Formats: sequence, C-alpha cells, structure tokens
Amino acid sequence: MAKTTSLPGYCFSCEKPYDKRGMGRHLKTCAARKDAIVAEYGSKTRIFHLRIEDPYESAYWLDIEIAANSTLAELDQFLRDIWLECCGHLSQFVVGETYYSSYIDPDPFFGSWKTEEYDLHVAIGKAIPFNKKIRYEYDFGSTTELSVKMIAEREGSFPRGKKIRILSRNFSPLYICSICGEEPAQWLNVFEYENNFYCDRHAKEHDEWDEGFLPLSNSPRAGVCGYEGTEIKEYAFEKFV
Ligand SMILES: [Zn+2]
Ligand SMILES: [Zn+2]
Ligand SMILES: [Zn+2]
Repeated sequence: MAKTTSLPGYCFSCEKPYDKRGMGRHLKTCAARKDAIVAEYGSKTRIFHLRIEDPYESAYWLDIEIAANSTLAELDQFLRDIWLECCGHLSQFVVGETYYSSYIDPDPFFGSWKTEEYDLHVAIGKAIPFNKKIRYEYDFGSTTELSVKMIAEREGSFPRGKKIRILSRNFSPLYICSICGEEPAQWLNVFEYENNFYCDRHAKEHDEWDEGFLPLSNSPRAGVCGYEGTEIKEYAFEKFV
C-alpha cells in the first residue's frame, strides 16, 4: 500500500499544509488564525479545542473548536456528519469508567454492567476532561473508534448559529491502485481484505463492481458497512496533498 505522508494536513485559517504534529504547534502561532480571532465579534463564550483522531490509522485527524455549552449529542452529530454516518448505528463516548451513550436501554434484561451510564445530553465541559484522551465509538458491530482530546480553551465567539469550527484536518491519504500500481485509488473492494484499493477503471472492470465496492472517502470509516462519504457539502474534503 503506497501513500504520501509528507505534510498531510491542512490549516483552514492560513490554507497551508502541515504534518500532524506540526499542526498542533502551528495552530498556536498561525498569524491568519490570530487575525481571525481578533476580528471575532458577538457575545463571548468559552471555547474548547479538541483534537479528534483515528487511533489506529494516523492519517485521519481533525482539530475543531466547540462551544463549551455544546453537548456530547452535538459533537456526536458532527462526527457522524463529517466522518461516520452510514445507517444510524449507536455510538458512545467512554471517559474512564463512565459511558455516555446515544441510546440507554431503559430496562436491561441483565442489568447494565457499565459502572456509570448517561445519555449524550451532557455539556462538553462537564463530560470531557482536560488534556486526557477519551474514546468514542460509532457502531458496536463494525466499530469505528476515535480518540478525542481537549487540548486548549479560550474565550471567543462563533458566527451566528454555529457552535463548531474546523481548524485543521487531514488531506485524503493517497492510495495507489493495487491492480495497476499507477493510478490513484478511488474505490475499496469490500470483499477483499488485502490489496483492495482500486482505481476507477479497474474497479468498474471488476466482476463485483455492482455490489463489491465503496468509495475511498476521506474518513476513518471508508470501506466499512455501507459508508459512502459525507453528504454535507461543507464537510467534503477530498483534496489530495
Ligand atoms: Zn494556519
Ligand atoms: Zn452502517
Ligand atoms: Zn488501476
């Protein structure tokens, strides 16, 4: 599997590329971001900076700002919208021994084994500890796991009606077709476990084209269940390095 790893992420303030670790440092000093913060207007609120990443595939990450009075339900909805939603699976945040779940069985047959369980209508600032990675899971069958870490906070404001702002995210990792070894892959063969990256031509020539392929979207859920990429235009970010 070939992919580029140089400067794989994008700063939405200055529109320059950085690598994943460099982005953390860059966001503290980005001049364009500083200007944007100075130019913010409207009522001030507490804002958290979250780094969200795929713990197993380092190519996927997001830096976002979210209003402290947002709930886990709003963060969950954002993660579904940008990266995850395929068919309305359940999800949860796990903070130590505490579970925040999108659905709580009101009458569990065996009694819940979870030490503490709440729904998602809890303020971010109450649920997520500072500077400590917590776990998020979407779909308890073919699970996509993410880690969420609150890395900074500040006073600031959002445009009217907004409570989340994307600071940076990864470019689409560039995978090469495993058949021709030349063209960029655009499709995943879901029936094959290895060498399953296909360029457009080799995917469409394949016997299983009708049912065996999912788009290689810029998401940790690419190729899982029926995931076909985000349906929300402002969240689509399929640019390659
Ligand atoms: Zn920047
Ligand atoms: Zn699904
Ligand atoms: Zn090919």
